[in-house]
Amino acid sequence: MCSVCGINRRWVTLARPGPGKLQFIPLGGLGEIGKNISAVVYGNDIILIDCGLAFPEVDMPGIDLVLPDITYLLENKDRVRAIFLTHGHEDHIGAIPYFLKQISVPIYGTRLTMGIVEMKLQEHQVSLHPKSHPVEPGDTVKVGNFSVEFFRVNHSIPDATGLIIRNPVGTIVHTGDFKFDHTPVDGHVADFHKLAQVGSEGVLLLLADSTNAERPGYTPSGKNGRENLRPHYRTGQRAGACLVVCVASAPHSSGRGVGCSPWASCCRCRT
Ligand SMILES: [Zn+2]
Repeated sequence: MCSVCGINRRWVTLARPGPGKLQFIPLGGLGEIGKNISAVVYGNDIILIDCGLAFPEVDMPGIDLVLPDITYLLENKDRVRAIFLTHGHEDHIGAIPYFLKQISVPIYGTRLTMGIVEMKLQEHQVSLHPKSHPVEPGDTVKVGNFSVEFFRVNHSIPDATGLIIRNPVGTIVHTGDFKFDHTPVDGHVADFHKLAQVGSEGVLLLLADSTNAERPGYTPSGKNGRENLRPHYRTGQRAGACLVVCVASAPHSSGRGVGCSPWASCCRCRT
């Protein structure tokens, strides 16, 4: 550790330009909510992390969706190799149909994420690039000078992942949106071992995004939701009805809501 700047010496070594220059270019989503899309550039290769949209603010009457500015990518169309998706929220995948109409590249993401993307593409009558395919956490995809490994994280949508992006200059770790939940609703805990492993290998750049990370304390586990709902079901039983509303992109939450109901066995719920 350098006593002047506080930077680990290994970081300095990894950051030193050797075989080429590595660039991380946020094209949206930095310092704002929505339209998450970032480019990682090395040599003649550009890969993208996520491709999301934003929803209009109150001062945008008549605007339905806000798309990221991809002028840089259009100008370097031939160098764009692939899009790697961290999870299936709109602010991370919502711009894909509009993007693919202009630049057709393979897309990689976990099964649920790719399923949501395919539904969107059908609506827009756009086809996935034939090389696109779903991945499992732990899988690695090699594209040009990049090798991208997916690792599991916890988020408010299942099948969320972070990315370990290896390249000739130094490793980038992108967490995607995440929280650490030791008892997640879907039973899949974030891959702490993978994080420890890549940390010991040496990380050039960590990009971490966790809502309210500046607030002290811990976010309760998603599993607590079930206990919190039970009293409301009891109230509902007296009233004769209980209406549960869930975020559409959180199917494990709807299961949690139905699962703790005394009428779960006769529920015909669609989300
Ligand atoms: Zn998210």
